[in-house]
Amino acid sequence: MKPLVDSFGRRHRSLRVSVTDRCNLRCRYCMPAMGLPFVPREELLSFEDITFAVQVALSLGVDRVRITGGEPLLRTELPELIAMLNDETDAIDIALTTNGLLLARHARALAEAGLRRINISLDSLDPERFTKITRHGILSEVWEGIEAASKAGLSPMRINTLLLDGFNDDEVDDWLELARENPIDVRFMELMPIGEGAELGSFGDYLNLTTLKDRLVETRGLVPADPEVGNGPARYWREPGAKGRIGFITPMSNSYCDSCSRMRLTSKGDLRACLAYDNHVSVGEAIKARDELAVIAGFRKAVAEKPAGHQWRDGHVTETGMSALGG
Ligand code: SAM
Ligand code: SF4
Repeated sequence: MKPLVDSFGRRHRSLRVSVTDRCNLRCRYCMPAMGLPFVPREELLSFEDITFAVQVALSLGVDRVRITGGEPLLRTELPELIAMLNDETDAIDIALTTNGLLLARHARALAEAGLRRINISLDSLDPERFTKITRHGILSEVWEGIEAASKAGLSPMRINTLLLDGFNDDEVDDWLELARENPIDVRFMELMPIGEGAELGSFGDYLNLTTLKDRLVETRGLVPADPEVGNGPARYWREPGAKGRIGFITPMSNSYCDSCSRMRLTSKGDLRACLAYDNHVSVGEAIKARDELAVIAGFRKAVAEKPAGHQWRDGHVTETGMSALGG
């Protein structure tokens, strides 16, 4: 079938599937303390619905699938979805993004279900700071999850850290040390003006990571490392002799919109071809009705309407938060 190519010639090969918009944390740049109006449970796509949607996406040339949320492990049967995707689709690369809090409980089942790759979001190595940014997270629980994932063979392991000026930018050396001593890729991310991230106030500010990378190349001798499999947004570097790499995800200071190959399916079945814009194409009902042609038409419409890139640097703000978008 004709692949998903947008009007700027970008071929879409990667689908991020949000399985819930709920979360057990309230990261200050992502979700307000009181939460958000969440999708009613009966409107969530079932695992069978998601598997069908992924099958359709694969027929359109998608070959990478990442499960995300909200916090995906709040759907406690998640290993069943991973097994279904492995058994019933030809997806070559199924990955998971999680805050890690529930990982100790599920790591082995996820690995047994066929999950291979995992990203853990963790913004501080300091227990008090971690609790502060997540509003109530307990850092030791995330470390237990990381250890369980490592024991279960979920590798390569990647830790995503959102760096904020004035909040956690003094931890860069500690992260470099972690990547030096362990086979873990640490990926620094820039804050995007999405949802709560647009108004962080005095809590911490956007930090330019292209400038940070240039400084680390000079002061720490970072050298370019192997590129990301599948051309993801991170650009990788390595300290000579280090076991893990350092990735920089720079949507603001060095945008990668030109090579974007991603789209997102939300937990109620909305397709979003671009993270930065609030418009979407709803295919939830078509998915539930197993109407393959309508779902294909939805994918094609979403991709055809995809803009060239974000306009965040010109002051545009994205209303829908990352927890609902499937970050
Ligand atoms: N709950 C899971 C987690 O935290 O890994 C998965 C969903 S979360 C929305 C995915 C990623 O989005 C996290 O790494 C988080 O740091 C990032 N994120 C959320 N809001 C953001 C923002 N305004 N700017 C940049 N990254 C953001
Ligand atoms: Fe939850 Fe992830 Fe958002 Fe934090 S970043 S509130 S863990 S969805």
